[in-house]
Order: sequence, then C-alpha cells, then structure tokens
Amino acid sequence: YIEDEYVQPYKVYDSSMQTAYIDKAEIAGELAEGIAKGELQVYYQPVVDVKTGQIASAEALIRWHHSEKGFLSPGFFIPALEESGHISELDDYVIHQVSDFLMDRYHAGKNVVPVSVNLSWMDFYDEKIMEDILDECKNNDLEEKLIRLEVTETSYAAMGESRNSILESFRTEGVKIMMDDFGTGYSSFGMLQQYNFDIMKIDMSFIRQIETNPKTKSMLRFLIDMAHEMGIYIVAEGVETEVQADFLKKSHCDYIQGYYYYRPIPQEEFRKLLDEM
Ligand code: C2E
Ligand code: MG
Ligand code: MG
Ligand code: MG
Repeated sequence: YIEDEYVQPYKVYDSSMQTAYIDKAEIAGELAEGIAKGELQVYYQPVVDVKTGQIASAEALIRWHHSEKGFLSPGFFIPALEESGHISELDDYVIHQVSDFLMDRYHAGKNVVPVSVNLSWMDFYDEKIMEDILDECKNNDLEEKLIRLEVTETSYAAMGESRNSILESFRTEGVKIMMDDFGTGYSSFGMLQQYNFDIMKIDMSFIRQIETNPKTKSMLRFLIDMAHEMGIYIVAEGVETEVQADFLKKSHCDYIQGYYYYRPIPQEEFRKLLDEM
C-alpha cells in the first residue's frame, strides 16, 4: 500500500487553497456530525527500528473525508478546531479509537506495537479530558504502556510550567512522552533542560537538509549523541530518501518515520501489517 493519499480523487483543493474556500468556523462546527457519520478516521504511520528494520511503533494521524467538502488536511482543520475550542473532542475521539484497537488485539493475544497520539496544548486545560486520557492509557497491565503522547515543543511553551506536572503523572504510570517537531520552537535547548520526556522527534525540516547542508548533518549527529546521553530516544520524521535513511543509520538514530518506509495507512492496512509481523 504505497498510494499517495493526497492525490486520490476525493481531493478537491490543496491545503493552501482550502482556507480560501472553506470557512474555518463552519468546519469546526461540523466535527461532531463528521465523527458520528464516520467521516473521521484514524490512520497509522508505522515507525521503523533502525537496527532491525522492523516496525517498532506507529503514530496515529487523523483524516477527514468530508462528504461535501472532500478530503480535508489536518494541517487545515486542526488549527480551526483549536481556534474554536473543539480540538479536545477530536483528541479524545482519537485516543479512544486507538485504545480500542490496541486493547482488542492485546487481549486477543495478537501482535501490538505502541502507538503515539498527538495532543493539543488546549487538552491540558480540560481536566476531564486529561483524566479520561490517563484512564485510556492505563487500561493494560504492561509496565510500559501502549499509548504514547506526542506534545509539540510549541505546546510545551503554550501550556506553561504548571501543566507540565500532568505529563509527569503520566510518566509515573509508564506512559512515554514524546517531544514532537523538535527544533521548530523558540527555545529548543531550553525545553530540553527544563522538561522530562522519553522520546524526541526531530522535525522533518532538518531531515530535508541532510542532502544539501553539511551543517545540518553536524547538528543532527550532535543532537542524537546529546539526546542519548540524556537517556532520550530519537525518531527522525519525514524521511523520504535512501540517502537520508543511510545518514541517520550511520549517526545512530534509533527510529525512522517517513514515506521512505511507510505512509500513514488506514486501520485495516495497519492491522494486516501487524498480523504479518
Ligand atoms: P505531526 O504530528 O508532526 O505528524 C507528522 C506529519 O508528517 C503527518 O502529517 C505525516 O503524514 C507527515 N509525514 C510523515 N512522513 C512524511 C514524509 O516522509 N514526508 C512528508 N512530506 N510528510 C510526512 P499530517 O498527517 O498531515 O498531520 C499534520 C499535523 O496535524 C501533525 O503533525 C499533527 O501536529 C497534527 N495532527 C494530526 N492528527 C492529529 C490529532 O489526532 N490530534 C491533534 N491534536 N493533532 C493532530
Ligand atoms: Mg506528531
Ligand atoms: Mg474512557
Ligand atoms: Mg511532528
């Protein structure tokens, strides 16, 4: 399954054009209906272990196939949901979908891998949502929980220091915390010093420059070594070429996520991959 989901027929506009044609507030107001109609589906993008070449985990990424407006990109509707305050409904939906999928398989003795779910900074201001998310994360007896949480560097900054204790309580329960899009915020190194997390995802803007910018290569090598010294694992995001993958392997990167190996795929396809493991 290597089809490009972005060039399928249901695509009407590219993400930059969507803003011009579709009202953001209108879209946000249609979330609940969209969920009820099954228009929102969780896709899974497998992440590969550099040492073994096997699938080590996956990231849950939401897709919206709107019945009238066509395919909507998360890059468009996630900000719309944040602006309107509806984002937590979506994140709660995603975490339940992922949890149901993983727990069904786990209890049936089938292959499972950890799956990370993206959280918005706004989720941290909703106590009920956070309690529910913790409940979902805790619903197996594994020491290391199957659901992981991705929080962007910018979200860390937006939720402030006091909310970080929530993440610490997740870690106490064995939930791994991932810093998403590392290197794109205002104070990446400040974040590293201040907060505890388990896995760092290097933003794809750096990966893009591996082939062209020798400074980027030095930086990445340094970043990987430094993270390892702190006991943090590294995922490289958006790896598309063999040159990029080879460089990352040689530089002791732990995990690779990107079209070079797998695109985000529907749950049914992911199920098949896990069954074949
Ligand atoms: P992200 O969390 O950084 O997710 C990685 C994005 O990179 C995904 O875009 C993925 O499809 C894309 N990607 C992965 N490998 C490659 C590659 O090799 N090349 C290229 N060009 N792209 C690659 P996507 O699915 O469009 O999601 C965009 C963003 O929307 C995500 O960035 C995340 O911030 C947000 N998002 C997606 N699903 C959710 C969700 O359920 N809840 C929340 N709060 N945010 C979500
Ligand atoms: Mg992410
Ligand atoms: Mg629940
Ligand atoms: Mg990312």
